[in-house]
Amino acid sequence: MYQQIIEIDSAESNISCPICQQAVVDWTQEQYIQPCEHTLFIAMDLGFEFVSDRFEEKMSRSVDQIHDDEAANIYEEIQKVDFEHAILVRSELGVENMYRYTGFAV
Ligand SMILES: [Zn+2]
Repeated sequence: MYQQIIEIDSAESNISCPICQQAVVDWTQEQYIQPCEHTLFIAMDLGFEFVSDRFEEKMSRSVDQIHDDEAANIYEEIQKVDFEHAILVRSELGVENMYRYTGFAV
């Protein structure tokens, strides 16, 4: 489903929207999550930080249900959603085998 996957190997890097270049994770801001209109979701292996309405509508279960399910795998949940021409950015969290996943679409 994702037409492109971008890997970022630094936990300190800002994450910019590949469409409008806005820093949607901006470490210089006190509120570091700054979704733009293209942002589908911002998530970590531990849970979702932001989900857009248009992405949540396509999810098979709600974010609350996923967060209540200790066995839930956030990456698998994201993969299940069929969203046309989405771009996934996977960035390291600075902890082994832990990532942040940020999705974008026009
Ligand atoms: Zn954007």
